[in-house]
Amino acid sequence: MTNLPASPEPGDDTRPTKLIGSSATDATIATTTSITTVRNTSGAHIQLADVSKIYPGQSVAAVENFSMEVNPGELIMFVGPSGCGKTTTMKMVNRIIEPTSGSILIDGKDVLSLDPNELRRHIGYVIQQVGLFPHMTIAENIAVVPKLLGWSKAKIASRVEELLSVVQLEPGKFADRYPKQLSGGQQQRVGVARALAADPPVMLMDEPFGATDPITREKLQAEFLRLQDTIGKTIIFVTHDFDEAVRLGDRIAVLSDRSKIEQFDTPARILTSPANDYVASFIGSGAALKRLALIPVTEARLGPAGAATGHMTVPATDTLREALDTLVLTGHSAIGVTDGSDRVIASITVEAISAVLGADAATLPATGSATAVAPERSPRTEEG
Ligand code: ADP
Ligand code: MG
Repeated sequence: MTNLPASPEPGDDTRPTKLIGSSATDATIATTTSITTVRNTSGAHIQLADVSKIYPGQSVAAVENFSMEVNPGELIMFVGPSGCGKTTTMKMVNRIIEPTSGSILIDGKDVLSLDPNELRRHIGYVIQQVGLFPHMTIAENIAVVPKLLGWSKAKIASRVEELLSVVQLEPGKFADRYPKQLSGGQQQRVGVARALAADPPVMLMDEPFGATDPITREKLQAEFLRLQDTIGKTIIFVTHDFDEAVRLGDRIAVLSDRSKIEQFDTPARILTSPANDYVASFIGSGAALKRLALIPVTEARLGPAGAATGHMTVPATDTLREALDTLVLTGHSAIGVTDGSDRVIASITVEAISAVLGADAATLPATGSATAVAPERSPRTEEG
């Protein structure tokens, strides 16, 4: 029998004992760009080996011999068409679905040897349909797992308040409302807060932003990235939207039928060197533009501030995609790059942007379409 750590006593002031999980350490991991960031991670290591699932009464497997290793603090995207097995694969990690065969280790512990209910309490889970309890207030919804873990009232209350702030919902305004009194996007944020409540080392997210409109979705994605930078969970995130995978993922697994991994790599590498036609078809057109959206303005060789023309500028913290949009929109050959206090500190040109793609492509094994720099959509139209 596996020895499970006891839940903290009511009134205990420490964080809940982690069933699986490591102490917070500074880990250096490669992000989606060539930049390496230090992310504070409290995530766990996950290893799936030869995991298969054959649903009862089915002759073909829904998931066949799936193997993958996920590092602590990594944000892994599963992307693939409907029915390819994304949800089934993910749900086996917290045993909402029992694997037919194979092994799943979290921080070296075989999840199949753990009590499934205990396991699930230590893995945050967010789904597309949000799944908030309609008869409970927002605060009560977030408190579900901490309550199960026996936390004191005071500790739960402060955790709820903290989490509402984290997902940018004003506690005083939202804690006592019911789910139906919130917009779809706000409910989605509550779903994320609830999954984070007991500070789980692993988060599983199944198309969590799928039901929201494109604008809300972009906002939630941006917020989510900021959040992940702080909390550094190990996250498996399922989506059928390749752009979402590129935007969010540290690494992307492109899946085909029976959860077959066609390619598992960083967004930049998948975009520049798709492993096969299947992956290439997912990327579609505009791969170069998608890559630009991953590269900060500061990666380009910037010109002197004096070379900039026109009043429209781009912040140094933006991506090359935004810089290109602004260049195309204004028709200027060089636009200003600004610092945090809106001062023009440098300039950027289309040539400098192309050079980044060219240089980058040269250091990668395969070529791909990384030379075309034509916009695939109309440029953003806000005023500078
Ligand atoms: P995805 O999340 O990628 O859309 P799923 O993991 O939900 O895919 O489903 C993978 C395959 O397993 C599909 O062919 C689906 O029809 C089948 N499937 C999913 N759930 C069940 C179930 N409970 N019983 C039988 N077949 C199922
Ligand atoms: Mg699914």
